[in-house]
Amino acid sequence: MGTLITRTWYCRWPTGGRVKHVAHGGTARRLSVDNASGGGMNRWSIPDWLEGEVIARDRRCVYCGVAFAAQSVRRRDRPSREHIINDARRITRANIARCCIGCNASKGTKGLVAWLQSPYAMARGITPESVAAVVRAALQSEPSGGSTP
Ligand SMILES: [Zn+2]
Repeated sequence: MGTLITRTWYCRWPTGGRVKHVAHGGTARRLSVDNASGGGMNRWSIPDWLEGEVIARDRRCVYCGVAFAAQSVRRRDRPSREHIINDARRITRANIARCCIGCNASKGTKGLVAWLQSPYAMARGITPESVAAVVRAALQSEPSGGSTP
């Protein structure tokens, strides 16, 4: 027993690059990871399956709606990861989203509701009605927008 195998696989990194892994030897084992238990994690501790879901869902900034083109001209229009409610423990598909670097930088640590009233949001016509569905849902479930009292 113990068929010698050579295995190659890739891990995706948040930057979009890929890291090549090669393993030699050992008996064939199941490589697929159980999604529920996490599998690979990135530096935000977001499991890969959730990262993939969010990337597939948020093809535009969840706030200002700018489309994430493959090669964005302006850096601030590029996607970044966002906790809709600023709580790093909430690693759920309802709270992890992609927004452009411009919105992310503006929102910073502000609560969602407070930020929606900021000059930045106003200037861009970002309102509780204009944001993506995932943000509207967060607003409904969390009317305070996660701001600290
Ligand atoms: Zn944006």
